[in-house]
Amino acid sequence: MTEKTTGETLLSQYEKLGISRKVYRYGESVLEKLAPRFAQIDQVAEYNQMKVIAAMQEARVSEACLMGTTGYGYNDLGRETLETVYAKLFHTQAALVRPQITCGTHALALALMSNLRPGDVLLSPVGKPYDTLEEVIGIRPSRGSLQEYGIGYRQVDLLPDGSFDWEGIRAAIGEDTKLATIQRSKGYQTRQTFSVEQIGELIAFLKSVKPDLICMVDNCYGEFTQTIEPTDVGADLCVGSLIKNPGGGLAPIGGYLAGTQACIDNAACRLISPGLGKEVGATLHVLPSFYQGLFLAPSVTAAALKGAVFAANLYEGLGFRVVPSGSAERYDIIQAVEFGTPEGLIAFCEGIQSAAPVDSFVTPEPWDMPGYDSQVIMAAGAFVSGASIELSADGPLKPPYAAYFQGGLTWQHAKFGILKSLQRCLERHVIDDIPYNE
Ligand SMILES: *Cc1c(COP(=O)(O)O)cnc(C)c1O
Repeated sequence: MTEKTTGETLLSQYEKLGISRKVYRYGESVLEKLAPRFAQIDQVAEYNQMKVIAAMQEARVSEACLMGTTGYGYNDLGRETLETVYAKLFHTQAALVRPQITCGTHALALALMSNLRPGDVLLSPVGKPYDTLEEVIGIRPSRGSLQEYGIGYRQVDLLPDGSFDWEGIRAAIGEDTKLATIQRSKGYQTRQTFSVEQIGELIAFLKSVKPDLICMVDNCYGEFTQTIEPTDVGADLCVGSLIKNPGGGLAPIGGYLAGTQACIDNAACRLISPGLGKEVGATLHVLPSFYQGLFLAPSVTAAALKGAVFAANLYEGLGFRVVPSGSAERYDIIQAVEFGTPEGLIAFCEGIQSAAPVDSFVTPEPWDMPGYDSQVIMAAGAFVSGASIELSADGPLKPPYAAYFQGGLTWQHAKFGILKSLQRCLERHVIDDIPYNE
């Protein structure tokens, strides 16, 4: 087949799936300019793939590690080895990687509740944390929050230009400030995501003010987007979800903490029980997916990054504000597209949903999701329920009506989803027309 006929055959395949010639051609015109960006993403993936393999080899992962345990889970070789793999990857003394950690919020709550004591103060030097953390901390009063246990909270907002408020941070650190929580990814905000280098600068400053301050990073969505992780630049503790980047789309549940021995031991005693700590916790049948998912994670993250870069350039070309911008460096896999109207956000999510391999025929609707303070719409047709390393989109129904788009286990699926979203926006007259060259 010549290149031209291959293109036509591909187009007919897309047309069968509801993509018009116009949308397809516009997508191709956007893609043409992205080759150097994609090459750079592939290079990071290659580096990280070697890093994962090296960690697995050094930890002597063997076939026996894939077996799993039941009951108490004493002497679970696979669990202990996997925790060594994570500690090697993150260059930390220890790690806790468990299916008993339900999600990212649970992992973060665990890290905070186990390393803070009554009378301590938690500091966020990067502004408001992720929505679900508000109830963990007690910013919004909630049963079982840190606040109920007498743990204080101070927050220093970013300056209007998005930079750290160095003087404000210095002033906020007192005798009782025990732990600083730094969220790497923007989450449901339209600030920039921090690079690992920026986080390193912030941690160096925090430690210069108070050397024994525990610096924790909410690493959700950031893993493998760069060649280094926050623990490489001084973080005492790095926390994330296995149904995001490091699970590679295969982990069906779970969370991880990587950090100092003391931080990890505190977390293990809180997750399980004082006295038992890391020694128990059956892994049942999840270990193969934890190992294989981690093995795939660098290339899955690269696929998601390509999707994010493509979406940014595609919608930016149509005049929408996108965060990060089409040309910006990437430090997480999330792409925000601001639609300005609920109709735009909803149409975008419907398009993503209709591209899914699972549940493509359902229509996502806004709902009152626990932990969030406004209605949220979510589109996901995932093999693992709620997995946001799989192609998914969501956003709170409040101004600026930003759709947060992320994931894609393969670049090809991410591309298809984005084209579908544009197709739906055209059908719903959220967008009047797109540039089109025959
Ligand atoms: C997803 C996310 C969380 C919470 O994780 P869940 O698995 O949804 O509970 C926390 N912080 C950030 C930055 C996230 O992206």
